[in-house]
Amino acid sequence: MIEGQCLCGAVYYRYHAEIEKTILCFCQHCRRAQGGIMGWNSPVAREHFEVVRGLKYLKEYFHSPNKARVFCQECGSPIYSYRLDLPDIIRLRLGTVTQGKVPEPCEQAFAQYKPNFLAIESCE
Ligand SMILES: [Zn+2]
Ligand SMILES: [Zn+2]
Repeated sequence: MIEGQCLCGAVYYRYHAEIEKTILCFCQHCRRAQGGIMGWNSPVAREHFEVVRGLKYLKEYFHSPNKARVFCQECGSPIYSYRLDLPDIIRLRLGTVTQGKVPEPCEQAFAQYKPNFLAIESCE
């Protein structure tokens, strides 16, 4: 099982399954949304994802019409995103995981934007 939370702790979740694959994304939207070099996320099944605490703090932001970015409106931590046309899958933001096994990334999206100083051995 996976557990995680936002920075302030208002939002706390459990994922009642294993994380199978993780993806680094270097696109501009992820960078801005995370305030970092990249996004690190995993597509997981919504049916196994449970917001245990703080559902009322979650806010959805649509930067593109089809994709909701869901974050804690108290502290701003991104928690997950999902696409309206793929409602059964959410993309969990793995920096929020506090318990459980998170596999090394197996995929890089928009790798052409990866900074030169960042060497990642585990995936192409
Ligand atoms: Zn928070
Ligand atoms: Zn991205």
